[in-house]
Amino acid sequence: MLDAEGLCFRIGDATIVRGVTLSVSPGEVVALCGPNGAGKSTLLSLLSGEQSATSGEVRFQGKSLSKWSPVALARLRAKLSQESTLTFAFRVYEVVEMGRFPYDTPKLDGEIIRACLQHLEIEHLEDRFYTSLSGGEKQRVQLARALAQLTSEHEEPRMLLLDEPTSALDLLHQEVALKRAHDLCREHNYGVVVVLHDLNLASAWADRILLMKEGRLVRGGVPRDVLTPEVLRDTYGIGVLVLPHPQTGRPIVTIDRQSV
Ligand code: ADP
Ligand code: MG
Repeated sequence: MLDAEGLCFRIGDATIVRGVTLSVSPGEVVALCGPNGAGKSTLLSLLSGEQSATSGEVRFQGKSLSKWSPVALARLRAKLSQESTLTFAFRVYEVVEMGRFPYDTPKLDGEIIRACLQHLEIEHLEDRFYTSLSGGEKQRVQLARALAQLTSEHEEPRMLLLDEPTSALDLLHQEVALKRAHDLCREHNYGVVVVLHDLNLASAWADRILLMKEGRLVRGGVPRDVLTPEVLRDTYGIGVLVLPHPQTGRPIVTIDRQSV
C-alpha cells in the first residue's frame, strides 16, 4: 500500500536519506529505529509527502504521492511529528478536532473526537489548554488527533506515521499508545510506520523493524532477526545482551555492562 523506491534527500551538500526502498502492507506495524541523526524523521516526512524527495518516489496505493490531492491524502494518512509546534491557546478538544478538518461530517465529529480521547485515556483533559499540558499529555493529544484524522465510515487502506510517539510517555502510557496503534492497525488494516528509540517497544509491537544508519536502511526484518548483538553493535556502536521475553519470547535488549 505504501511503497518507496530509491528515495534520496539532499540539503545543500548533505545527503540525509540515501537510496531508501521499502514497502508497508495494510495491517502491518513497521518500527523505524536507528541512532540520532540517522535520517528517520526526514524519511518519515518523505513518506508522508510533507517533504519531497530529491530523487526516488513514494507511492500510496500505487499512485505517486505528488498525484494525490492534499485533501484526499489527508483522509488516508495521518502523521504525528516529533515536535508539536502548536503555541496558540487551543483546548484539547479543539486540537483533536483538527484531525477532522479533511472531512465534512459535523454530525459524527463529536462522537469520533470523544472516542479518540477515550482511546488515549485523556477524556479528563478535554477542556484544558493544550499549552498547559505536560509533554506526555501533549503527545497523547497529538496521537488522538492523528487517530481522529483516520476515522472514517469508509473502510480503505490508511497510513499512520508516528515519529517518536512515546518519547515523553510513562511506562503505562507507552503501552496504551502503542497497543492502541497496533490494535487499530489490525482492526482497520492501517499500515503503521513508527519511529521508536526504545528497541523493546519496537520488539513488542512491531511486525517488522527497519534499522537506519547514516541515511540508509541497513537491516530489516522480524524483531528476532534484527535485534541481535551483532547487528546492534554495528548500528549503535555498543554491546548489548538479547534475552527472550519470558511471556512472549520476543527479544529484550539490554546493555552489556561488561562491554562498555
Ligand atoms: P533522526 O530523526 O534519525 O534523528 P533527522 O532525520 O532528524 O534524524 O536528521 C538527519 C540528519 O539530517 C541530522 O544530521 C540532521 O541534523 C540533518 N538535517 C535534518 N534536517 C535538516 C535541515 N533542514 N538542514 C540541514 N540538516 C538537516
Ligand atoms: Mg527524529
